[in-house]
Formats: sequence, structure tokens, C-alpha cells
Amino acid sequence: MSEFNDIEHQEINEAFEQVLNVYLSSNPQGNETLVREAFHFANQAHMGMRRKSGEPYIFHPIAVAMIIAKEIGLGATSIACAFLHDVVEDTEYTVEDIEGTFNAKIGGIVDGLTKLKGATTISTDSLQAEYFKKLLLTMSEDIRVILIKIADRLHNMRTLEVMAAHKQYKIASETLFIYAPLSHRLGLHLIKKELEDLSFKFDHPETYKIIEGKIEATEKARAAFFDKFSQPIKERMKLLDFDFAITERVKSVYSIWQKMQVKKVPFEEIYDIFAIRVVFEPKLYMNEKTQCWNIYSAITDIYTPKPDRIRDWLSSPKANGYEALHGTVMGPKGKWVEIQIRSARMNEVAEKGYAAHWKYKGGHELNETALERWLKNVREVLESPDSDAVEFLDDFKANLFSNEIMVFTPKGQMKIMAQESTALDFAFEIHSEVGYHCIGAKVNHKTVPLSYKLKSGDQVEILTSPKAKPAEDWIDYVTSGKAKSKIKDLFKADRKKFMRIGEKSIQEELSKLKLTLNTRILKKLLAHFDIQKRDELFFKIGKEIITLEDLPKILKEKTPNKLVKYWTLQFWGTNKKTGTEKKKNNKKDVKVRITDDSEDISYHIAHCCHPIPGDDVVGFRNEDNSIDLHKRDCSEAIKLMSSYGGSIVEAEWATHKLMSFLSVIKINGIDRMGMLSNIANLISNEHAVNMRTVQFETFDGIFEGVIHLYVPNTEELNNLILKLLKIKGINSVLRIENKDTKSKNKK
Ligand code: MN
Repeated sequence: MSEFNDIEHQEINEAFEQVLNVYLSSNPQGNETLVREAFHFANQAHMGMRRKSGEPYIFHPIAVAMIIAKEIGLGATSIACAFLHDVVEDTEYTVEDIEGTFNAKIGGIVDGLTKLKGATTISTDSLQAEYFKKLLLTMSEDIRVILIKIADRLHNMRTLEVMAAHKQYKIASETLFIYAPLSHRLGLHLIKKELEDLSFKFDHPETYKIIEGKIEATEKARAAFFDKFSQPIKERMKLLDFDFAITERVKSVYSIWQKMQVKKVPFEEIYDIFAIRVVFEPKLYMNEKTQCWNIYSAITDIYTPKPDRIRDWLSSPKANGYEALHGTVMGPKGKWVEIQIRSARMNEVAEKGYAAHWKYKGGHELNETALERWLKNVREVLESPDSDAVEFLDDFKANLFSNEIMVFTPKGQMKIMAQESTALDFAFEIHSEVGYHCIGAKVNHKTVPLSYKLKSGDQVEILTSPKAKPAEDWIDYVTSGKAKSKIKDLFKADRKKFMRIGEKSIQEELSKLKLTLNTRILKKLLAHFDIQKRDELFFKIGKEIITLEDLPKILKEKTPNKLVKYWTLQFWGTNKKTGTEKKKNNKKDVKVRITDDSEDISYHIAHCCHPIPGDDVVGFRNEDNSIDLHKRDCSEAIKLMSSYGGSIVEAEWATHKLMSFLSVIKINGIDRMGMLSNIANLISNEHAVNMRTVQFETFDGIFEGVIHLYVPNTEELNNLILKLLKIKGINSVLRIENKDTKSKNKK
């Protein structure tokens, strides 16, 4: 605690007045008294407290209130709650005090926010997932809780530099994992973009800088193209007497990077696609939808449209309320240009999401029911008995980002479902009882299997029989969180039984060999059967899907961990940044450095992403104190960081020449005589590289090869890739994760 000086007092008041002005300018009749009183209450409660950066603490609630007022556009109650959101947690005041001073509603929202905060600080090693579950439960009670929570997170991300590095990772991955998707789902498009970019900046500072630099370098050329492209459209729009604005849609650093990862193409290919947005003030006496089509028609008089590229989010908005008309046309220099057409209202909904819906509530019932329907869905999944938090989060997450399709009941009622939904998902969407007793489905009057993937426009009839019961493999036929959790609930009890049987039989088999089950043996078994979780292993053994006949042999097998047996971890102690942190647990605040010279090894290389020395890595401490190493951009690692944030350790991998590590590359090119032997020769001539397996497939003169090889570090691997690229006929050589090859083999 330290007293504020006069200048600080003055700055605090000025910052508050700005919030008030923003609020009053869009709500001239608003409840100014409430906003003022909430601020004074919070200011007085946090008096003397400072943030880690040294500034008075109250600047944080003020900034959160500003986001609520300006960027999300909520009203006096929410602004008041934003001012008060940390009061109960950080000062002596209680929820009852707030309820007494203000009202029950405000007390309730602050209570929700406080509970959420408590949950993060209590959870130590895992159970971050529990916290998210709580977050979503509270959200379904009053959505303002989650909107304020998002604003709080946004401000914390904007000021993340002051935190210790390992906390930055945790907060950044948590943001990427749950808050960005949630913002997307609530239609807060701008906030979602900013959260993603900020997370990415802290997780991959170098990559961020490179992409940012490339964007800047191409800015001039893009601006020139944009002017040339939009000029004729502007003229035409003026002729049609529209009040409008055309803007270039600038892709965010994160979205570019993500596309580069997914499509495995360089920056230039992603950035070459131009996109513009036309936002217009609708004319009276004509509906907005018609005006959107008129504008589209005017643009396609100038530029040729790409067939099949129209996306009509006007007739059926997305579930998060998004409305617009999208198309692609051929611009100058043979470049495709994406076009989005929106009215001013649609644009506000697209950017501010939920809050904007309330504002325009009157005429647009559809949007709201879509959101309501989704919330109802969340509640249903959450309320299912003993739904496991981590599992739930996985399923829930899978559903947050998915695209949507529209399907119809036999009576013509429309249902919006996630892309990839199956006939069985549809059955559960209608009702869980329909799902449980489903025996088949007809799509467009033809009988299809339950696993049939629905397409937009399908008309689906579900066939049921009262005697029918779900089969266990149904879990593979559904994609929606709702259907999954319903099926899992049913089988959970069953599963537990088999898990117990499996665990018992492992112990029996081991005791015959005079051994007991320990982490080392468990790891060997998991690696042998290629299973990730022990529960899964026990279950499969209990169900006799896999057998332990070869147990003695399995135990003698080398596990991949053996390779790294000669390495050790050196503890560096706290680094400069962490020195200012309050230390609750020593273990968490160290950075580990991996080198080759000691024997008491306690780390493993993750199977999902196969990091090698030279990669940007992050570590997770297991219960037995060993550390799992992942590539920092590994999707599994991002999930772990958010679910078990407490056990993250910063890791650094010193370069090694002595040991080799498994890495996988994919080669594409034109098939010709001798290609395979050219590649094989080149690789075997590299002294530091060893091939393990080679798979080649050829079709229509094109080949695709997947090679598993052992390399000492990224430098050697990059050298090899560069050499391979010089072979005539080879188009691309990419390092891939093992997962990619597996899914390939399944086909
Ligand atoms: Mn806060």
C-alpha cells in the first residue's frame, strides 16, 4: 500500500470521466448515477493498491469498464460490475456489501466473477478445466458475467508484459484455448482477433515479428491494388445513391500463421488473397437483404464472379448471429478478391456480437434464438451427471469453432448443426431419447448409415425403435458435444467396470513376473500399444481388446525414452523476470535447460509433435517430476497448457550433436524414374541423418513420400530439407507431426 499523489488522483478521475463520456454519448438518458457510484465505491475500495506495473490498481477496473462500454457496448449495470469486478476478491468488502450498496443483480454478477477468480487461484496443478466448467456454468446463468470476464482477460492480455514468462505462456494459451473461441461464439469478432494476436505474440515472439514485418513490407503494393480495385465500385455505388464505405480487410498475424500451418504454404500464398468489405447505410423502404444483393449485382457487373463462391448469411445467419453476403470476383492482374457486403447494422453485429443483438432486438428474433439455443445446449451438456471436466472441455471446444450446416426435419423445420455432423448427431439434436433409440436414418428419402455425414440442405428422418439401445462404437459416429456427452454418460458406468478389470489383470500378470505396476512399466505399455492415457489402457485390457500375452517381451522393448537416457536437466534457478514474483511453489519458477552430460534423466519427448533440439519447446512436469517436452506450437501442448497450467516449465534445449531424434518429413513432387533412389541416396549420404521408415505413394504421375528419420537437431534437418528441395521434380518438403502420417495410413 502506498498513498497516491495528486497527479495520480487526477489521472484516475480523468480516466473515469472518459468511460462515463463514452457511455453517455450512446446512452444520453442512461443511468449516470449508477456508473458514478460504482466507480467511487471501487476507487475507494482499491485505494492505495498498485498493479505489478506500479500504477494504481483502479486503472485496471477502469480499463475493463471502458472495454465493456466502448468495445462491447453494454449498459450501466455491466459497466458498474466491471468497476466492481475485483473488489470482493482483493479488498475487505463482501458480496453482501455490494448487494446492500447497489442491488441484488449487481451483487449476483460480481459474485459470479469472484467465484471464477477464486477457482483459478485455488487450482494448483490441474483442474484448470474445472474452472472453465464453472465459467461456462456461470455464463449460462447471466451472460454478462462472461462478457465482463472476457473484457477483464482482454485488458490483462494487453498488459501481459509485466508478468513472468511462464505465467505469460499459461495466460496466453488459456486465452487462445478458451477465451478466443468463446468470444467468437458470442460474436465478439474484433476482440477474438485481438486475443488471438496477443496470445500468439507472447507464445511465438519471433514468428510474430517475422509475419508482422512481412505485412508491413507488402503494405504499399496492397494499398495500390486496393485503390485500383475499389475505384470503379465506388463510382457505381455513388450512382446508385448509397451511403457506404469500402475497406480492405486486413488479415491478422495469427490468422495468417494459422492458415500457413493448416495449408502448409508460405506467407506469400496466404497473403496474396485480397479481401474487401462494403458496409452501407440501408435506404428506407427497401429491406437490407435486397440491398445487399443489389450491391453484389453492381459489383459483378464490373468484375466476373467466381462460380459457387457465394455465401448467403442473409437468409440464414450463423448461430453467433453473423449476417452478410460473401462472394469472390476476378480482380485486376488475375487476382481473386473476396467481397463481404454488410449493412451498418450487420457490421455492428459482426464486430460487437451479443450486445449489438440486444440493441437491434426488435426485428431480428432469429439471431437471438440461435444464441439462446446454443446456451441451452451448453447448459444441457454441463448438467449431465458426472461429466468429466477435461473431457467436456475437449468436446465443447471442438464445437466452438466449427462451421455450420443447415438441415431439415421431414416436416421442413430447419436445424443449424456443426459441419461434419452425422445422422446420429441429428437424432440427439432432436432429443436424447430419439438418439438413444435410433436404429437408422433416411436422408432425402434414402436409407443411410448412422455415421452418414450430413450436408447443408439434407432432409433427415430418424428411424427409432423402443427396444433399440446405443452401441459403444456410436461415440465414433458423432461429433457434437451434446451427443458425445449423452453417449458417454450411458457407457461411463460400464467403462469404469472394465477399467477396474483391466487394472487388476495387469497387476496379476505383473505379479507372476514378481513386478508391480509403476510409472516406468506403465509408460512401456502405453508406448507399446500406442495409447495415450492409462484409463484407456486399463479399459482396453479389461475389455480384452488388447491382451497381455507378450508382457515379458513388451517389458524388454526399448521405449523411445531410452534414446534420451543420457541427458539431464539443469535447474537454472529463477531468472530475472520471475524474481519479482511471489513464489508459491519453487518447482514452477525454474527454467529447465537440457544438455547431454548427466545420467539421471527425467524427461520424455512428446509423441504428438516430436520436438528435436533447436525447436521452440515447452515442458510439462508430471506427477513423478519427470518432464514431457512438446513443441511450443503443438496443439496438444496448447491444450495441456490451458488445462494443467500449473505444471508448465519453461524449457530450453541446448544443441546436440551426440544424439538423434525422430522427425517426420513429407515430400511431394513429380514421379519419375529414379526419384526414390535419388532421395534415398541423398539422405543416406548425410552423415548425421538416419532413415527409419520410408513410405511412397504414387498416383497420376505425382508422388507423396513420408520419411521417418533420426536427426540431431533442427539445423541438420533444415540442411537436409534444403538439399532435398534441389532434387529435380521435388515440389515441397515439409516437416510434419506424426499424427499426419497416421491419419494418412488409415485411408
Ligand atoms: Mn480483473
